[in-house]
Amino acid sequence: MNQVATTSSDAKIAKVNLLDFDRQGLRDFFTQIGEKPYRAEQVMKWIYHDLEDNFENMTDVGKALRAKLNDSCYIGPPKTMLDKAATDGTHKWLLGMDKGNAVETVYIPEPTRGTLCVSSQIGCALNCQFCSTGAQGFNRNLSTAEIIGQVWVAAKYLGNITHQNRRITNVVMMGMGEPLANFDAVVKAMSLMRDDLGFGLAAKRVTLSTAGMVPQIDQLSDAIDVSLAVSLHAANDELRTELVPLNKRYPIADLIAACQRWVARKPRTSITFEYTLMKGVNDQPEHARQLIKLMRKLPTCKVNLIPFNPFPGTRFERSGATDIRDFQTLLLNAGVLTMLRRTRGDDIDAACGQLAGQVTDRTRRSADIRKKQDEESVHAH
Ligand code: SF4
Repeated sequence: MNQVATTSSDAKIAKVNLLDFDRQGLRDFFTQIGEKPYRAEQVMKWIYHDLEDNFENMTDVGKALRAKLNDSCYIGPPKTMLDKAATDGTHKWLLGMDKGNAVETVYIPEPTRGTLCVSSQIGCALNCQFCSTGAQGFNRNLSTAEIIGQVWVAAKYLGNITHQNRRITNVVMMGMGEPLANFDAVVKAMSLMRDDLGFGLAAKRVTLSTAGMVPQIDQLSDAIDVSLAVSLHAANDELRTELVPLNKRYPIADLIAACQRWVARKPRTSITFEYTLMKGVNDQPEHARQLIKLMRKLPTCKVNLIPFNPFPGTRFERSGATDIRDFQTLLLNAGVLTMLRRTRGDDIDAACGQLAGQVTDRTRRSADIRKKQDEESVHAH
């Protein structure tokens, strides 16, 4: 992603993308180029509050420094390849990351908030059986710039819609990829979401959703204050291993123990457990009872029921309305705080990964890459 600049001596140096730096990284960068670190805060405000990507428009930055910045760095958000608006107001961008690869970012407006769903990887190695992204395989991790750049692009676009009062109040790391398998870049990007000079979102408004990478859940609670969601989808190991193969490595008991540690360390927070309802697979009363038993171990946590969003080639179907209602009623009657997610953006391929799957380069997706990335991500954290 680096651009190349030519110096007066004709030696080629790589320009850095300022979106790759959190606040401390930006301060270090300004020190490195011989400037006072406070310049970082000044430029950060332009980048994230004014959504400015041209140094020439930064009016309180002197001419000499602007020239220096133009020579050494750039502000490079991902390129919009496609944007689609659904009739219900949901908006989806396909953002180009490099030649042949793109990820999806989805904006979901609701009466009291606007949620942006952000991707962390191109593809995903975890191969959850009901997931369109998982079916495409893994290509690579996104950089910090490519992650925070999704928020930047959406904020810039939404800011431009002056006739509708839309803005991003919440970010969920719930798009393509397993965010904890790209730990460092994701944490840095989330720190920019939280930073007052970044997007300034409160901890409860930035949520990371994981399929259950247990060691990284512990690391995350040390690294940054954000909210946690867990993709559960089944409350017994046999079924969960079938739906979410990562469960073989980190079975439900280990995952629940990690969640209990999270809650113990952050007593005022709650974890959301996502449960995608698939017809005849995990939507029967016995499955609800298993889930109730599990949730008793985490009484302050909540369940988010998600009717399955079918995509081409999937063997699963969305549960029937009666089964969904009965499942939710069982949970509510047992005292489990349970929400039912409304399906959104049906007319724009809203199942995560569907749009990108139509354009993304699949040539590097092999079982070997998948295995290697999976191992690296587990051992690195
Ligand atoms: S559900 Fe999430 S972790 Fe599982 S394959 Fe899809 S993107 Fe990856």
